[in-house]
Amino acid sequence: MKFTTKSIHIGEEPNFKDGATGDVIAPIHLSTTFARDEVENPTAGYEYSRSLNPTRNALQQKLAAIENANYGLAFSSGLAAETGVLMALLKTGDHVIATDDLYGGTLRLFRKVFAANYAIDFSFVDTSITEKVEAAIIPATKLIWIESPTNPMLKLSDIAKIAIIAKQKGICLVVDNTFMSPYFQNPLDLGADIALHSTSKYINGHSDSIGGAVMLNDRSLFEKVQFIQNSAGAIMSPFDSYLVLRGIKTLSMRMKQHAENSIKVAEFLAQHPKVKKVIYPGLESHPQYELAKTQMKGFGGMMSVELKGNLDSTKKFIKNLHYFSLAESLGGVESLIELPALMTHASVPLEDRRKLGLSDTLIRISVGVEDVDDLIGDLEGAFRLV
Ligand SMILES: *Cc1c(COP(=O)(O)O)cnc(C)c1O
Repeated sequence: MKFTTKSIHIGEEPNFKDGATGDVIAPIHLSTTFARDEVENPTAGYEYSRSLNPTRNALQQKLAAIENANYGLAFSSGLAAETGVLMALLKTGDHVIATDDLYGGTLRLFRKVFAANYAIDFSFVDTSITEKVEAAIIPATKLIWIESPTNPMLKLSDIAKIAIIAKQKGICLVVDNTFMSPYFQNPLDLGADIALHSTSKYINGHSDSIGGAVMLNDRSLFEKVQFIQNSAGAIMSPFDSYLVLRGIKTLSMRMKQHAENSIKVAEFLAQHPKVKKVIYPGLESHPQYELAKTQMKGFGGMMSVELKGNLDSTKKFIKNLHYFSLAESLGGVESLIELPALMTHASVPLEDRRKLGLSDTLIRISVGVEDVDDLIGDLEGAFRLV
């Protein structure tokens, strides 16, 4: 089965048996508990909805299928999914190697919760240079955690190469695949142990549900994460599971349109006299364009753009836009724009922002699936007013 067919059918095969009604989509099962006819016999394997719920189960099957994974687990947010993985795999004194420009919420979870309260040791390295990952490994290293591309500098890490190193040393490799979605990048196929997503972004795609997903192949690893999902209880609700099931059905179509619009927007911006630099993995000017072409099946919908001028002219440019809403988050059908230095990355110390190249005139764009002529017209109009 190809991607789009899986995204529509897996987990939602119509059921005609046992008086079922043949629904073509998974119904929203709100029941917290499931009656059984014999003490020893949970009905169809369901006992209590935190442990397993039929709507969430349908979603978990679909999530696994679209990442080419054996197992999928749905959580109440991307950060809940991350917490589930960390709690399942780490104990006090363990060491983690992580990408140095992680999603801000992930960095906060690592530093202020797991390092501060549970004495987990983190090394933040530039994982786009594979040798730096290898050099950071110590006997206590249990986990390598990467994001590729990163946010907002869109640096790539070579997942296959890092996976080989991790495997040799018996270290678990986790890839936060939120930015690419399973349509454009499949970390498990590249050798990673766990693919993780904030479903709040591309997977759901309509900016109306917060959720997270973990996809993996190894049975014992799955059982460990599932044990935490049930024990800590940060599960995705039946209604959110329904929304995400619905969103995934158009994931391939949305991603194609995001990418098609993005390359046109990137090329328009790259030639504009008021633009200093466009960072998009689909442009030949991206320093890792070659890796992007082999590791990803498409270049996605996220780009960062450094404008000429200063903070005031950048703010003015953003204010002049109509179709790009000024908001954090990404991956929805509607275009969003934000200023990382004052918004998503305001908590990153100025010195670190400078080191990463994150200036006050750098804007991050999540290119939506609107008609691209309207998007480019909107950008053109906003430039005219600054
Ligand atoms: C949004 C995001 C998260 C966190 O997900 P939530 O659903 O907001 O908890 C983690 N990683 C990346 C790359 C994200 O963009």
